[in-house]
Amino acid sequence: MLTDYHVHLRPDDLGATAAEHFTEANTERYLDAARDAGVEELGVSEHIYRFAPALELWRHPFWEANATDDLAAYCEFVRTTPLRLGIEADFIPGAEDRIASLLDAHEFDYVLGSVHFLGEHGAVDHEGYDAWERSGDPDEVWSRYFEIVAEAARSGLFDILAHPDLVKVWGSGRPQPQRDVRFHYEPLVEAVADTGVAVEVSTAGLRKPAGELYPSAALAEMLVDAGAVFSLSSDAHEPGLVGWEYPAAVERMRGWGINEVAVFEGRERRMDRLGP
Ligand SMILES: [Zn+2]
Ligand SMILES: [Zn+2]
Repeated sequence: MLTDYHVHLRPDDLGATAAEHFTEANTERYLDAARDAGVEELGVSEHIYRFAPALELWRHPFWEANATDDLAAYCEFVRTTPLRLGIEADFIPGAEDRIASLLDAHEFDYVLGSVHFLGEHGAVDHEGYDAWERSGDPDEVWSRYFEIVAEAARSGLFDILAHPDLVKVWGSGRPQPQRDVRFHYEPLVEAVADTGVAVEVSTAGLRKPAGELYPSAALAEMLVDAGAVFSLSSDAHEPGLVGWEYPAAVERMRGWGINEVAVFEGRERRMDRLGP
């Protein structure tokens, strides 16, 4: 089984509208790409902050600029297609109850939990809100990031933790932590061991300055030792990236001792054999 659950039907720029991209023709392009890549289960997971109700969760200026689309209409559209229905929901500490009611109002197949922003401390992957410009200390940025991802895991709101070490996205383009990165991973690994939430292996990191999968080999090995289960995704924002670099990812995963992949329907998880 090969899955691709972390897929966006459009690029992240504001000009990429729902009307143009949530269409049968666009869906066909993604399904064709999935077939070509040997991906049997294809699901979409649009960013929660592009939908109007996200402003009930957080009123960050970036969200205010983005949160225009109709969430119910997106869900209804996806149900007219063979795609699995997912969403990429940011974890906003303190907004747990509101996130839960928003998610419970729709019948998702799975929910990806993401941490892009460290609250008012800035974002790990958005230039213009750069967390490193707000904090001089990279160890502080890394430890804050993994503490929030651990909190996301413990919140019980999510089925999958997306791009679990996104904080490394810029690679050598940002100051690196001085401490052994395993120290920073620890809270996340403990939270995954305690809760059983699935962790995403994402090929997106390979095309970012980081130049490696999310998670890193060191994090993956700690997670495997802790008994974690994994999903597999590309974080494609265009059809050409569906199932991108999967042969390499599957080989790495097997090397880490991962032989099964998580499959979701109606927020129920089962494990299947990993591979084409
Ligand atoms: Zn993301
Ligand atoms: Zn994404």
